[in-house]
Amino acid sequence: MDFRAVLRKIKEDERYKKAKSVAVQLPEGMKRGIADITSEFVGKELIFVGDPFWGACDIPQSGNWDLLIQFGHSPIPNLGSFSNVIFEEIQESLDFDIEPEKIPFKTLVLTSNVTYSNQLPIIKNKLEERGIRVVLKKGDNRVFYPGQILGCNISTARGIEDSVLFVGEGMFHPLGIALGLPEKKVLAFNPKTGEYTDMEETKRKFLGQRYGAIDLASRAKKFGIIVSTKIGQTRYSLARVAFKLLQEAGKSPFIITLDLVREEELMNFPAEVYVNTSCPRVTVEDYGSFSRPVISFYELQMALGLKDKSRYIFDEIVMTDEIGSSSFRKWD
Ligand code: SF4
Repeated sequence: MDFRAVLRKIKEDERYKKAKSVAVQLPEGMKRGIADITSEFVGKELIFVGDPFWGACDIPQSGNWDLLIQFGHSPIPNLGSFSNVIFEEIQESLDFDIEPEKIPFKTLVLTSNVTYSNQLPIIKNKLEERGIRVVLKKGDNRVFYPGQILGCNISTARGIEDSVLFVGEGMFHPLGIALGLPEKKVLAFNPKTGEYTDMEETKRKFLGQRYGAIDLASRAKKFGIIVSTKIGQTRYSLARVAFKLLQEAGKSPFIITLDLVREEELMNFPAEVYVNTSCPRVTVEDYGSFSRPVISFYELQMALGLKDKSRYIFDEIVMTDEIGSSSFRKWD
């Protein structure tokens, strides 16, 4: 990816031309490279957003600038439009080409994270040339590109096909697919290393951890319910339902609102278990960083005996609260 070319393209955007002050939001891995930005965006007041972020669900709602440029993520359509935000996805090419003979499926749904969604039509053609039937389609209104998966939304992977191929790095996205669609076979292809991973084993290990947390929650009394203040993660309505269910079960719940969900912010609250209504990454990837169990809303229902434990339900975000978007949004 030619980052300088990306920056030059942004400079042609009318919103950039009009802005006097420009805020830049970068994924952690790109923060060291700000020299390219400072040397290209000359003549603007530049403000780098220091807080970490993991998705377009996180658009800072306070700050004093004319334009925000968010790198690394595509917009989330159902959050509405943000005229003063440029979403610059930073899409990559494949370091390793897909090898059709390593795909053990006759029919599959093709998915990726945003980084490789530009490569999916090429991969589709290559697989189809070898006789594999490939479905490449768009999911619900939380995702932008055909084939794109979010860690909180796997709608793209749904369908009658019994197999899913995920293209991208890391296990967070394909694990979400494997958990959310347990009847399907899920294979993850990492285009940086050329590795293929059958997600069955990872899924089994993860479920062992989740059922352990559900078991602990079923015996706990005090519950902290986490609500994110990030515009695309806010689910007060879900938190209120959790609160009511816990009260009806004779437990002691309380609601905590947070921007960044970390152990440091939670450790002084008197909860035995946390119910997470923010990004599923907190429950899935960050679980080990908390001193007390963190469970999802659906896991809470299992812990309270309100849902059958035999079919695990993955916590997807389809819609966030209106209260989250209308009360915080500044730009339309
Ligand atoms: S809520 Fe989490 S998984 Fe969903 S877009 Fe935001 S950071 Fe990504």
